[in-house]
Amino acid sequence: MSYEKIPKVELHRHLEGSLRLSSLIDLAKQHGQELPADTPEALSPYAQVLEPMESLDAVLAAFDLFQNAFRSLEAVERITFEAIEDAARDHVALLELRFSPGFMAQPANLDWDEMMQAILRGVQKATQQYNILVGLIAIVSRSLGPTSARETVAFTLNWRHELVGFDLADAEDAWPAKDFAREIKPLHAIDMPITVHSGENVGPKHIRESIELLQARRIGHGVSLIEDQTLTEQFIENGWALEMCPTSNERTQAVERLSAHPAATLLKRGACVTLNSDDPGLFAITLSGELQRAENEMGFDQGMIEQARQNAISASFIEQKIKNDFFNVQEKS
Ligand SMILES: [Zn+2]
Repeated sequence: MSYEKIPKVELHRHLEGSLRLSSLIDLAKQHGQELPADTPEALSPYAQVLEPMESLDAVLAAFDLFQNAFRSLEAVERITFEAIEDAARDHVALLELRFSPGFMAQPANLDWDEMMQAILRGVQKATQQYNILVGLIAIVSRSLGPTSARETVAFTLNWRHELVGFDLADAEDAWPAKDFAREIKPLHAIDMPITVHSGENVGPKHIRESIELLQARRIGHGVSLIEDQTLTEQFIENGWALEMCPTSNERTQAVERLSAHPAATLLKRGACVTLNSDDPGLFAITLSGELQRAENEMGFDQGMIEQARQNAISASFIEQKIKNDFFNVQEKS
């Protein structure tokens, strides 16, 4: 069936991975930057990851052109607006959108608080125009190191009412959970919900550490969870959510092929599996397309896709009352 018209829920989408190629070109012109091509079709092979790469690191390196678009506050606002607009056009009803202030600020040394204000303007404009619920998550880019992590924690404390959660991303192998356990402690004190990119291209011991040392209650990817029976049982028992991203997991070779993805098996066993796009601009995908792939290639039937959607609604970090009100109105209309 087609999933385009169904109101969907996305828990794992990066702002920096949501750029339109047409905007990348526009913004490069505005900022006086050279690009390897000047039409979306010709730029695609340079900017997007359309085939499986040799590793997660190779995919992370492909982010360069996208990162370079964040050179002004106008660009930040525009990219935010368009990311939400694209989600709304794909009938995403609830969107958690995440961004790494340290990573975004790098190319032009933008002020983090001014960037946040620009993001909020983008959110406000988009949510006035489209019927979509948006929650923002701040990310620590692990490879920027503990100082950047401390700054991101301070940023998160400062903007805690505008953010719904906190995340750690990239290079888990080189930067394991223990390197950040102390830095993120102040967030536990305010009960800031924590999700962590974990077990994507590394074994399940990293997922265990994300749970134990960082108190993550949602895991981004978690592809290797299934290798640890005891931990899998704990996930099922506690309802800890898995934000799984089929095409992303295929292109970073977190799974050899989609038919070998553990999402369906975990969902059938009662784990809180959710399906997400990760980086729709980078991978040239939509959430509808991801659900379609889950049905065609990963052993999901429509009931399982609906279960994953319900899981995502309940696991969303957006306040329960706001979610309930929003979906009650949706169902009545
Ligand atoms: Zn991600």
